[in-house]
Order: sequence, then structure tokens, then C-alpha cells
Amino acid sequence: MCRHLAYLGPPVTLRSLLHDPPYGLLRQSWAPRDMRGGGTINADGFGVGWYPDGGDPVRYRRAQPMWSDTTLPELAAVTSAPAVLAAVRSATVGMPLHETAAAPFVEGRWLFSHNGVVRGWPDSLVPLAAGLPVRDLLTLEVPTDSAVLWALVRHRLRAGAPPGEAVADTVARVAAAAPGSRLNLLLTDGTTVAASVAGHALSVRRGPGSVLLASEPSDDDPAWQPVPDGRLVLATAAGLDVRELTTA
Ligand code: GLN
Repeated sequence: MCRHLAYLGPPVTLRSLLHDPPYGLLRQSWAPRDMRGGGTINADGFGVGWYPDGGDPVRYRRAQPMWSDTTLPELAAVTSAPAVLAAVRSATVGMPLHETAAAPFVEGRWLFSHNGVVRGWPDSLVPLAAGLPVRDLLTLEVPTDSAVLWALVRHRLRAGAPPGEAVADTVARVAAAAPGSRLNLLLTDGTTVAASVAGHALSVRRGPGSVLLASEPSDDDPAWQPVPDGRLVLATAAGLDVRELTTA
């Protein structure tokens, strides 16, 4: 069921987030520790987005397993950033296998990832998708549940909603339209992160002036804190706010 992470803080190499930790995203692509019954491995693509020198985000995505990419280790060793969002994908049955289906999705400053599944796809999402501008639907990057979730979140952001509200509203509406869905969303602009915990795990580790949110802890550091289900996490490098998802 995909695994994702977001980091904010002093610049770090991509390698220190993806490859170096004993249970980092690379390891999670073939041996995740907590999939909660939603698949076995995360071999259907991966993506990394980062903010070079405070600029707009850059992405590197592929449709292959992270472990089989020979370019990523070199790139990750020499690329540092103060904000990173990365994911490894386990495609939901029936959804396309293409790099455009791998998170992060992007627009302007925003990077987005979804860990989970929308039940009853695609019919359950038809009423919500009908509220999107036709142009957004015609230019959808790929026909997956995650891409539609991103279109819904992005629509709220474009209308001026703060990130936490855009995430919480979208989770609430999709959960009502498609009960039983798993809707762990991750959204960042490089300064703040909004994350929902709705059906899958999420853990947080705070450091001096940094925060790392991840589907599962990347090492055995006791500083990792699991976030209970049904929460919205709002994080900056300086602090963390965890609230009820439904009341956000
Ligand atoms: N349903 C999404 C996809 O197929 C996300 C999959 C996941 O979280 N495993 O891309």
C-alpha cells in the first residue's frame, strides 16, 4: 500500500533519507515492516521530490522498483535539500503501471502523495470528480485514484484553502463517498507538511529543527512516535500539531 515520507529541516542528502536508514524507503520497497494487509511489496514505481535551494520542487520518478534503478543512488548521494517528499508504490489492482502514477504529484510549490486506496473506484468518485473543472479532468496525469485525490486537493488549494483544510476536507468527502477507503495523504510546499492518517500507519520523528514523517519508522530510534488513526498532522521544521481529522 505504498510507503511515503516527508522531511523538513536542515539540508540532507536524499541518500540519507532513502538508502542509508536500515528500514528506509529503499528497504521498504521490498521488505516493508507494516503493510496492514494492503499488499506485500512496493515494486510498482517510486518518486522523489525535493526543493533545490528553496526553489520550486524537482522530481525524479520511475515505474520500476526503487532497488532496480541504477541512477538513483548516484543522484541521491549528491543531492541535498531542506525539504523532501518521497514514495514507493504498490499499485492497486487494475491501476496503470507508469511513472506518471508514482507520487509525488506536483503543481507549483506543492508536492502530494497518497498511501491507500479509494474503494469502489472509479464509480464511487464520480460525484466528487464531477465537481472539478473539466480541464482538470482532461489533463489528469494518469487515471488512478491517487491522481483524482490530488486533483481534489489541488482544487481546494487553488481556491485558497490552507493545506490542512484541503487535506482534511478531501479525506472527509472521499470517506463519505467511498466508505472503507484508505486515505493517508501527504502534502508539502517545502515549508509545511499536512498529513492525514486514515487507514494506514504514520510515524513522526522530530529532531533539532527538523521533522520526518513516514509510513513506518526508517530505523529503531526511540524518538519515532506513531500517530493514531483519524488524525491530521500539521508540521513545520519548528513544530508539530496533531488534531482530529474530522474536526480540522
Ligand atoms: N491506489 C494508489 C495507486 O494505485 C496508491 C496505492 C498504494 O497506496 N498502495 O497508485
